[in-house]
Amino acid sequence: MAEAKALTPRATDFSAWYNELIARAQLADYSPVRGCMVIRPNGYAIWEQMQRALDQMFKDTGHQNAYFPLFIPQSFLSREAEHVQGFAPETAVVTHGGGKELEEPLVVRPTSETIIYAMYAKWIQSYRDLPLLINQWANVVRWELRTRLFLRTTEFLWQEGHTAHATEAEAEEETLRMLGVYRTFMEEWMAMPVVTGRKTDSERFAGALRTYSCEALMQDNKALQAGTSHNLGQNFSRAFEVTFQTASGDLDHVWNTSWGVSTRLVGGLIMVHGDDAGLICPPRLAQYQVVIVPIYRSDEERTTVLEIAERTRKELAAAGIRVHLDARDGMKPGAKYYEWEGRGVPLRVEIGPRDVAAGTVMLARRTDGKKESLPLAGLATTLTAAMESMQRDMLETARARREANSIRGATKKEFLAQLDAGGGFIYSGFCGRGECEAEIKEQTKATIRVLPDESFRSPEVPTTCMWCGRPSVTEAVWARAY
Ligand SMILES: [Zn+2]
Repeated sequence: MAEAKALTPRATDFSAWYNELIARAQLADYSPVRGCMVIRPNGYAIWEQMQRALDQMFKDTGHQNAYFPLFIPQSFLSREAEHVQGFAPETAVVTHGGGKELEEPLVVRPTSETIIYAMYAKWIQSYRDLPLLINQWANVVRWELRTRLFLRTTEFLWQEGHTAHATEAEAEEETLRMLGVYRTFMEEWMAMPVVTGRKTDSERFAGALRTYSCEALMQDNKALQAGTSHNLGQNFSRAFEVTFQTASGDLDHVWNTSWGVSTRLVGGLIMVHGDDAGLICPPRLAQYQVVIVPIYRSDEERTTVLEIAERTRKELAAAGIRVHLDARDGMKPGAKYYEWEGRGVPLRVEIGPRDVAAGTVMLARRTDGKKESLPLAGLATTLTAAMESMQRDMLETARARREANSIRGATKKEFLAQLDAGGGFIYSGFCGRGECEAEIKEQTKATIRVLPDESFRSPEVPTTCMWCGRPSVTEAVWARAY
């Protein structure tokens, strides 16, 4: 196999690098349908690891999975006024079925609040039926004009949690709990640090009372909205008549939340950790955490090396490590290294005849490319420790990079200079006025990513709005975003 040509460096053209990396690592491909993506096995394996981890976290916080239809009666969408306004322009609508025009067109779900709350109206009668905590893993369709693999595709995979509560306080608690679950997942599994906070009204989910978000900074200094959690108030329960009898016998509307993350996270993973050689996958989400590459020249060497390599594979697998032995014949070790490097495998173990004789292996780390000789005895323990430290280091590296590209207490001049210099997170004072926010967006393409949660707020926030000079009512985190 001829060596493929190197990726365009990130510093030269980040967008070209991103597309080439996805092709080289065989994560996804363009489909015959414009805007729709085919997730290839290597990409889907990462999504499966993400799903597995998140699904457990949802269950640990009391949620159950269910499944609702792909089609939603068109009239459902219009029952919540803001919701239809927000989603109507990007819906796909089915008008014919079985060769006949349908009495009522069906919308291919862009999100499932309407169909789910229509069912909740049947299932919830009393306060004893609450809280109702349901999650759905599904695909959704939003008719996007400009698409990017994983980041913005017409059809994508996601999970959407939908809950119903007896009080506003419980709904708010749930909204923030799931925002916290997302943050934990992104930091501890993806090694992707995030800033959490509330969205302004202009960036709020259509139909929500309040939207909270996890925002991550990519290596090109653009922000990625990685996950959102919405307090829907009683907007949908009023539209769908989801009522319940309270403990004191009154009738009230339930309080809803919804929250979601999607295959967009795979794009985030690539853009936070990838380097000019390809993907770097955090160990906790890697399909293969360790790949063993046997090195031999003669048939005799091949027999002894493969025997040790296979025994090592079994030992590592028995210790719970996701390990793959690349025993392909007729492919040089260098070509194998190149392929696994591109796919982002955290650790590579090389075993050659000299290693077999000495009872050692050669370990190569994907993050820094360093190689070291290790004793074969106790390898599972050594590799487990190496992965744990790599997982931590990746988070710390990403966090240090984000902080190096964040400025606080920005004046208008500093804000503009930072955007000119490539972007990043810009913390500033903000007057809270939509007009100011809209003007800044129009002139600079920067948006308020979040009004940061307390733990992310700067020690000192300017007392005036960075743009208009009026008194500041809150700190805001600005960035250009995907
Ligand atoms: Zn202002």
